[in-house]
Amino acid sequence: MSQLGTEAAPLRVAVVGAGPSGFYATEALLKSEIAAQVDLIERLPSPYGLVRSGVAPDHPKLKQSIEVYKKVAALEGFRFFGNVTVGKDVMPQELRDIYHAVIYTCGAETDRRLGIEGEDLAGSHTATEFVGWYNGHPDYRNREFDFSHETAVIIGQGNVAADVARILSKSVDELKHTDISQHALDALAESQIKTIAVVGRRGPAQAKFTTKELREFLELENCQAAIASEELALNEASQTEVADKKAGVVAAKNMAIFEKMAEDAEQSKVRTCRMMFCRSPIRIEGNGRIERVVLERNELSGEPFSQRASGTGETETLECGLLFRSIGYRGVPIEGVPFHDSWGVFPNQEGRITDGPDGAVVPGIYTAGWIKRGPSGIIGTNRACAVQTVESLMGDLSNLPADRAGTDALAKLLQERGVRSIDFPEWQRIDAEEVSRGEPKGKPREKFTRREEMLQILG
Ligand code: NAP
Repeated sequence: MSQLGTEAAPLRVAVVGAGPSGFYATEALLKSEIAAQVDLIERLPSPYGLVRSGVAPDHPKLKQSIEVYKKVAALEGFRFFGNVTVGKDVMPQELRDIYHAVIYTCGAETDRRLGIEGEDLAGSHTATEFVGWYNGHPDYRNREFDFSHETAVIIGQGNVAADVARILSKSVDELKHTDISQHALDALAESQIKTIAVVGRRGPAQAKFTTKELREFLELENCQAAIASEELALNEASQTEVADKKAGVVAAKNMAIFEKMAEDAEQSKVRTCRMMFCRSPIRIEGNGRIERVVLERNELSGEPFSQRASGTGETETLECGLLFRSIGYRGVPIEGVPFHDSWGVFPNQEGRITDGPDGAVVPGIYTAGWIKRGPSGIIGTNRACAVQTVESLMGDLSNLPADRAGTDALAKLLQERGVRSIDFPEWQRIDAEEVSRGEPKGKPREKFTRREEMLQILG
């Protein structure tokens, strides 16, 4: 038997999930010293995960990483299996029988929950739904958002909350030449929203916005960013955080922007985006649909950089017709792969999936990206994360099973099951069609938002 990783016996790997981590893991494998073949399996017909359906349409620069992924797809040994769901069309155990190794890079597909009364009332949505909807993700195409109300509330102060607030704040003119889906643009054109409240459970020094994203709120055509100046008073520990020249650098820059928001009082803009701090929602109320959210004032305690919010008992009510929970994503389990329920990740040691948080390594299965480490960091963070996983895999080469059929065996199995998988040239045809649909509108593309539409293009 030839040695694994040679031309005679290439390493055959299935990577599950074609978002950034999936492409970075594929790249690390195909550019390694050894001979490898990688089948990138994706449940949607389209690749690129959150770069396509998470990154905000008005942030086109962040989508430039797609150019890198296209180069990965052109590497020898790459094959794309779009429109294939692991856990439904093919089972994890089957992948282990077909490939020497499987790397799960399936991201964090759902949201954390607040766990409060009224969370599921009509008009109370997750950020995931809204982001997926305006970005044309097929799972969220049929969601409906009622923009006929004057006030929308966003819970959470991370970059996803910033995206949601910005899309609600912008005019149609500011969005119409982006790749925002047409159905979303049409619905937002009718929006009556005047106030967008972005509510954080901790203070301004702890907000998770990155400075670049926060600064954009000062530049909106139609929307005034506002803060009541008393909201910016910092306790001693927060002052220490902001003064820290290393760990507090983002907080200090953010504070300067918040102060600018508190100073600017121009009221001539159509909308206001109001930052509110040290408040947690404790109840969402309404008769059949959301009418208001009850917020409890918090106080912070603890050491600098590990301060926690706790309720003071003082409450206030915010009338609103729309609410978005943007408090972080969470991975979803795949039957047959160990899952850490409270962390929402696949438990692992440096990318090797383990049988529970402190369990033994399960041979042959690996993970990278948000499903490995939780939903944090920027797109590029996933490259280092995927490289670490591939290094772990390379270190295990001598322990991997010897003979595995790889690509042909998966293709045969899918064909037997009547699964219509999509390869990369087919995706490129869909891609070209999207681009040409966008041209007359001056948009980079008009996405297909339904699986059937994409399959129809292919005939
Ligand atoms: P995030 O940055 O972790 O922010 C989550 C927010 O929710 C925080 O303000 C957090 O407050 C709050 N929160 C959590 N649990 C809560 C609860 N029970 N009640 C009230 N508030 C709660 O998550 P994200 O915004 O979903 O972003 C995920 C990752 O994607 C981040 O790394 C982000 O930077 C990245 N991203 C980047 C961009 C970009 O570069 N433009 C765009 C979008 C996303 P605490 O701080 O108190 O926990």
